Amino acid sequence: MRPALLNPLFAPVTSLSGVGPKQDKLLRYLLGRRETPRLVDLLLHLPVSVIDRRERPKIAEAVPGTVVTLEVTVDRHRPAPSGRSRAPHLVYASDETGDVVLTYFRAQPGYVEKLLPVGEKRYVSGTAQIFDGTLQMVHPDRVVDEAGFAKLSGIDPVYPLTEGLAIGSLRRAVAQALQKLPQLPEWISPEVLRRCSFPPLAEALNRVHVPVELTDILPEGPFWSRLAFDELLAGQLALALVRAQLRRPAGVRNAGDGHLRHKVIDALPYALTASQQAAAKAIADDLNQPVRMLRLLQGDVGSGKTVVALLAAAAAAEVGKQSALMAPTEILARQHIKTIAPLAEQAGLRAAILTGREKGKERRDILKRLESGEIDLLVGTHALIQDDVIFKTLALAIVDEQHRFGVRERLALTAKGEAVDVLVLSATPIPRTLVLTYFGDMDVSELREKPAGRQEIDTRAASASRLNEIIEGVGRALDGGKLVYWICPLVEESETVGHLTDAEQRSASLKDRFGDRVGLVHGKMKGAEKDRVMAQFAAGEIQLLVATTVVEVGVDVPAATIMVIENAERFGLSQLHQLRGRIGRGSEASTCILLYREPLGEIAAARLRVIRETTDGFRIAEEDLKLRGEGDVLGTRQSGMPGYRIARSEVHGQLITQARDEAMRILKDNPNLTGERGEALRCLLYLYERDEALPLIGAG
Ligand code: ADP
Ligand code: MG
Repeated sequence: MRPALLNPLFAPVTSLSGVGPKQDKLLRYLLGRRETPRLVDLLLHLPVSVIDRRERPKIAEAVPGTVVTLEVTVDRHRPAPSGRSRAPHLVYASDETGDVVLTYFRAQPGYVEKLLPVGEKRYVSGTAQIFDGTLQMVHPDRVVDEAGFAKLSGIDPVYPLTEGLAIGSLRRAVAQALQKLPQLPEWISPEVLRRCSFPPLAEALNRVHVPVELTDILPEGPFWSRLAFDELLAGQLALALVRAQLRRPAGVRNAGDGHLRHKVIDALPYALTASQQAAAKAIADDLNQPVRMLRLLQGDVGSGKTVVALLAAAAAAEVGKQSALMAPTEILARQHIKTIAPLAEQAGLRAAILTGREKGKERRDILKRLESGEIDLLVGTHALIQDDVIFKTLALAIVDEQHRFGVRERLALTAKGEAVDVLVLSATPIPRTLVLTYFGDMDVSELREKPAGRQEIDTRAASASRLNEIIEGVGRALDGGKLVYWICPLVEESETVGHLTDAEQRSASLKDRFGDRVGLVHGKMKGAEKDRVMAQFAAGEIQLLVATTVVEVGVDVPAATIMVIENAERFGLSQLHQLRGRIGRGSEASTCILLYREPLGEIAAARLRVIRETTDGFRIAEEDLKLRGEGDVLGTRQSGMPGYRIARSEVHGQLITQARDEAMRILKDNPNLTGERGEALRCLLYLYERDEALPLIGAG
């Protein structure tokens, strides 16, 4: 239960005056919420910059192009002539040094007269301009009298906005929300408060929303940092609570004697690499520990994570336990089962797939076999976490590309068994700080070397002006029996930006040229349709596959050796790397051609240079960090860290470890979050929506 203390902050924004259904919709969009945002969401929406209104020159001294606040006397009005709605309403005003014209377009009749009564003194604030030799202010941001001026803040916060939402109405809503801020207990320990010189929460919120100094809103400043620490602490505490659950009853082992693993290995047409062997062994050791496994298997695209995952599942099956492998997309799930099924069959391991596409009798059948323990490994998508998916004895949850899943989904899957071991697969080399914020403390296995026999990929960049030449080359490759990917950024005409080539158009023009040898796959297609095309490509019935980034992860057609990426300048570095990872998977040499539009921006040019120079995913991740900052590495957000609204890893990197240490200390001293500090910490978890970890306290 949420502490009642927090109720005012969880009131809907529509309870504020001036916030109606229209603002509700805009605010949902702005704050990224499906439901009506709460006051707390508004308060955690921080300004990006400020407008400084403290400059108070005389009219004669006002610098055009700057924001000034003028003290003027209103001399006369010249309302817009009726009928000519485009002419402005002008207000002539002055001080002892000169004149200024205040200009209003499309004003309601009478509105400006009331705002600026003739003969009275007013303070007007806005951007000064020179027009026709006279000082002008178009739509002053502020018009106040003496009393209003006393309350006027010299510095206005500027918020990220969305179209249709006026800054003024957002500011007014935030100001009201600040009024409703209850007195909350301090959850940060006195030592940390002192060491980091953090202000109290109320002060932090007030100063970022009502800045007194220009620097008050800086992320590295004390106010923002305090809020970032809160957010990080909430995250770390939630992760620590999850982790505290990870002990299982003594004597329970989730790996057997190795007989199934040997069979899988015997069925492999290749030898495991040294790092695959090491990872498989580390996992099996974890499975036999009395502490639950929380391990990240990190390996570049094509490094062979799937077979390691299969070996983990085989280990569990040796003691009669079940495993689940959850992938973020249908394509990925099918890809996994395609790799796994033949090996599993030879090893006598029963594997099945469950996604949104298995329906009716087929689905019921799978669920029945799962519940009675006739399936050892269930591969699938989100469909795996539905309520009616019941395992007999789920012991191992394997989650692929986990950063696409939230904590909620992770918990939902592990809740389907007791003391479930967790193995996370990731192709994106995740920097240490992000591992910490996202997964908490995890053990890490890395697949550093590529499977033997892989060829280097020859990567070249070419201007789109050479398109015809490239198409000629592709034609020769097709005649030579090669399989080619042709990647386009977007699907539909309506989404077309500038001269981006859309996949449908491109496939049509390539079909004109190469006929039936061309196929198309994109995200808007039905799953079955996608699979059919992919299968045709894998079988060589289609030789040229035009695709969007749906093939970005997991797709495995080792015979494909050529990839053309159109508008390569539009893709991020790790995305290019992931895409390119679809080729160079067999024993034949591969070529990747990056087609770019000119002019090429500096960063885009740098990206293309890096991708040409190396195929080392770890190096690419590092360069990516340099080019765009850590927050973006997982590709889930424009700025900030995934799942974090306030903390920024490039600014608050230091705070992450401090928050982690603090969370560890808390759980050691007060594992059930009792007493005053415990109550305070519960408030914190609710504020930052990490309360889903609370039911774990004292359970299991
Ligand atoms: P990823 O790490 O990208 O998920 P996969 O597990 O899909 O990589 O493996 C990529 C390809 O490499 C698959 O075709 C797989 O069969 C093959 N593979 C995996 N391990 C080895 C190995 N040790 N030697 C040769 N090929 C391998
Ligand atoms: Mg994979």
